[in-house]
Amino acid sequence: MCQNCDFRTGLFKNRILIETGVDGLYGRSGVFEDVIQRFDNLITSFGGVDKAEVVRFPPGMNRALFEKSGYLKSFPNLAGTIHAFNGNDKDHAALIDKLQAGEDWTLGQEATDVVLAPAACYPLYPTVAQLGALPEGGRLYDLQSYCFRREPSKDPARQQFFRMREYVRIGSPEQVTDFRQTWLDRGNELIGKLGVPFHLDVANDPFFGRAGRMLANNQRDQRLKFELLVPIESEEKPTACLSFNYHQDHFGTLWGIAQHDGEVAHTACVGFGMERVALALFKHHGFDVDKWPSPVRKALWG
Ligand code: ATP
Ligand code: ZN
Repeated sequence: MCQNCDFRTGLFKNRILIETGVDGLYGRSGVFEDVIQRFDNLITSFGGVDKAEVVRFPPGMNRALFEKSGYLKSFPNLAGTIHAFNGNDKDHAALIDKLQAGEDWTLGQEATDVVLAPAACYPLYPTVAQLGALPEGGRLYDLQSYCFRREPSKDPARQQFFRMREYVRIGSPEQVTDFRQTWLDRGNELIGKLGVPFHLDVANDPFFGRAGRMLANNQRDQRLKFELLVPIESEEKPTACLSFNYHQDHFGTLWGIAQHDGEVAHTACVGFGMERVALALFKHHGFDVDKWPSPVRKALWG
């Protein structure tokens, strides 16, 4: 049971989100998309001055690079892979037979060279490594992508396909930690304009299994991840709407990204959960955007 079915039902009834029969997989209304677009613009109004390089990847990524990224070590339960039919006429007939008999036709599907991107920044790092050593000032990217995580839920803020806008900083430890601090401050100011209750806290990723608990503790102890949380599904367990991650030299070492002086590059990213922020707005200001408080309307629509 979800604690907050009224909100979920309200989203469907008001056709903000459209049910598909799969938890965490929803259609989006024009109103919802407009809120997302306005929030996207608000992010740019804070981050645009930094002149980040804009890159947009599709929601699928190169499987070989995904394998190398280590995602499967930490989050095997969340990964989504793309399989496809790769047979002949006989295999096709067998597939149709199975389908008609109500049997499992998917067993004949073969893994392709594409997997679903779990975060907007995963496809980026190997492409940066290809550019050679970083310039003296490091690099800064502006990303946005639909991401997939296999975490079906009745909580409308936990979706299987959702959009993540990210700024990713790659450079010296100092450049990267400065970037994160700047975005912690900006995040406060930015979400402050939306009139929703929020707070910042140290956090950890949902690493899988027993070994994962150690990774999670380590991440917390070193304060490598912060989240900006807003109550959506429940008051006691507010939802992470923005994440601020410092990966130290993890991706720099993994992908072979060197700083200007040859040292291994450090990386950090700030991630905005676009659907989560939109849902936080609908949760706290109601389903009718025309009735949202005027400072909030002004922040989004100008
Ligand atoms: P959570 O702790 O809630 O599972 P996370 O720590 O796994 O989130 P990140 O990996 O930091 O989240 O992802 C960056 C941002 O993407 C999050 O701050 C959040 O806003 C958004 N996000 C993550 N998972 C989901 C999801 N299942 N549905 C919608 N948005 C999500
Ligand atoms: Zn990231």
